[in-house]
Amino acid sequence: MRSEAAGSVAPIRVLPSALVEFPALMERVGSHPPRLFLDFDGTLAEIVDDPGSAALLPGLAPVLSRLASRGPVAVVSGRERTDVQRRVPVEGLTFAGSHGLDIQGPGLSHRVGEEGIAALDRVFPDLAESVLELPGVRLERKSLGLAVHFRNTPAESHEALHQAITGIAAGEPTLRVIRGKMVLELRPSVSWNKGDAVRWLESQPGFTGPAGVSIYIGDDLTDEDGFAAVGSEGVGIVVRGESDERLSAARFALSGPSEVARLLERMAAHVDPRG
Ligand SMILES: [Mg+2]
Repeated sequence: MRSEAAGSVAPIRVLPSALVEFPALMERVGSHPPRLFLDFDGTLAEIVDDPGSAALLPGLAPVLSRLASRGPVAVVSGRERTDVQRRVPVEGLTFAGSHGLDIQGPGLSHRVGEEGIAALDRVFPDLAESVLELPGVRLERKSLGLAVHFRNTPAESHEALHQAITGIAAGEPTLRVIRGKMVLELRPSVSWNKGDAVRWLESQPGFTGPAGVSIYIGDDLTDEDGFAAVGSEGVGIVVRGESDERLSAARFALSGPSEVARLLERMAAHVDPRG
């Protein structure tokens, strides 16, 4: 049953460390390799001012490769699938880009929301005109979204930015606004998020495997859908970010990408002791 965890949330600051509680975590995982779902920015890569320079943490590629040799590993990101794929050059992984709208992995491929592309093309000029006059704003055209990054924008401009984007979205019923960490994104208004991508993957050959536990690790608000998807049968691990007060459906926490790397190394040693 997955309903139990859906309502179970706690502030991130009270969640136990997945490293300190590693034995309990592995007891839950059991003897089968887990199904791993991993966010990229703030999870496998440090958050950087320029999203274009975000890079997989050094040393993680062989760890991910070792994990993928034993069980399914998916990288689930808000980035374009091809973008995140390029940043995680590891064979045998599955990639779910654009918040899960665009999935590709060994023997599987799935795209959702392509009907919103025409609307994205339509609003692009207006959006560019209204947001690019604000300082520090970066606009990113994705194949299935329009992302407005405002990490480098002064706080006093955030409200104007938000209003410009929601105003444009209000005129386009096939689009909706998704809020991430210092990013607002216009996306096709299909009911599909990172959690739906996780559920879809869990039903695919290669992910169904021998009763492995699903583990989802991520830092962002959008990763809460992933934690809810793995539910009480799985394990959600939230990476602490700017606010520890946020409520999360995750069961454990980690301090940052370097702790994620340590956890994945220990997990690889656990599921592949001879590697
Ligand atoms: Mg993230």
